[in-house]
Amino acid sequence: MDIQQAKSELIAVAQTLRDTGLLFRSHHANLSARLTTDTMIMTRGGNVANLDENSFAMIKMDGTVLEGDVMPAQAEIIQMHAAVYRARESVGAIIHTHAPHATAFAIAHQPIPVVYEPLMRFGVTEPTPVIAWAPRGSDASVQGIVDAVRSKPGVSAVLLANHGVLAFSNSPTETAQFLATLDEAAELLLHARLLGKEQPLPDQAFEQIKQRKQAFEKSK
Ligand SMILES: [Zn+2]
Repeated sequence: MDIQQAKSELIAVAQTLRDTGLLFRSHHANLSARLTTDTMIMTRGGNVANLDENSFAMIKMDGTVLEGDVMPAQAEIIQMHAAVYRARESVGAIIHTHAPHATAFAIAHQPIPVVYEPLMRFGVTEPTPVIAWAPRGSDASVQGIVDAVRSKPGVSAVLLANHGVLAFSNSPTETAQFLATLDEAAELLLHARLLGKEQPLPDQAFEQIKQRKQAFEKSK
């Protein structure tokens, strides 16, 4: 993705996340977008409520900062993003934040099951897993994330135990839309559990959704 396009898409996405409550009250998040196989841009500071053109650093996928100062508290999360890009080639953007309902599941150490059909439209076929707690950005934490990204092709996010959520998809806009849908799923699960418990989708649902998606895409 071209750097100007990446910046403007990330700026727009951060505003939407803020306006829809997905940054929770602290407005803490970090957002990145892949530029090439080997480079990305990432937000330089931890508060993303009002990003502008100067809010980003350009970073190599090995973690080397090429351009722009990354704030010290932010430097420790570079590998959390870079490792996901290295582990899954199709990832074009990553968002980490403390979206309130998804984070409730992270705090309860409970995966988010696929029982809300809109999640499946993003290609999610497996429960969003919880990664065991380790300090943010530490080798142990990053390794847990990478293991899940590699071993679970049907997930587009992981829950960071006692912390928050890390979502990754094709583009900044797609990743933000997915994050919103995942947080909706988490909120609806909390309501469904008050009503008794969530009910599974039928076994054939995944295949049917896939076929409908393919048929629709062909007819476009
Ligand atoms: Zn965080």
